[in-house]
Amino acid sequence: MLSKKMNEAINAQINAEMWSAHLYLSMSNWCLKEGHEGFAHWFRIQHREEQDHAEILSQYVIRRGGNVTLQAIERVPTEWEDLQTVVEATLRHEENVTQMINNLVRTAIRENDFASQSRLQWFVDEQVEEEDSVRQLLTKLQHNSCNKQACSCGIYTVDKELMEREYHCPEA
Ligand code: MG
Repeated sequence: MLSKKMNEAINAQINAEMWSAHLYLSMSNWCLKEGHEGFAHWFRIQHREEQDHAEILSQYVIRRGGNVTLQAIERVPTEWEDLQTVVEATLRHEENVTQMINNLVRTAIRENDFASQSRLQWFVDEQVEEEDSVRQLLTKLQHNSCNKQACSCGIYTVDKELMEREYHCPEA
């Protein structure tokens, strides 16, 4: 059985994952509106992955005899200056999520909750992947922009490449 403290902490994370899902859907919509279909596709996959994260944690809480409380999702941003701004915001967001996951692990250690420590290890590893893939995307974007103003031929190349990304359902 989950302790009250652990249940509350994971519950907060489930709601944070749902907020992330909304954030990425909003980014996907912005990219689509701006004509960057590959980026829109990439963020749509991010959106699905965040929903998966919420689901994995929800199933875990229920299997441990806890309760999941879904809350209203706070408003997410809808406008960004340009693609680089969107990707930079994504990296900052993922770095914040990493801190949240680390805090969750700290709580699990303090609560002597070995099962939660084990379950959360997947999320620790996942954050390494998340940060790495966003950093790679940012580097690619920086390398491919000829100049900041007019030319977007490099962005077009990256955009096309991002269309190739496939969605993989994570192991629950
Ligand atoms: Mg996540």
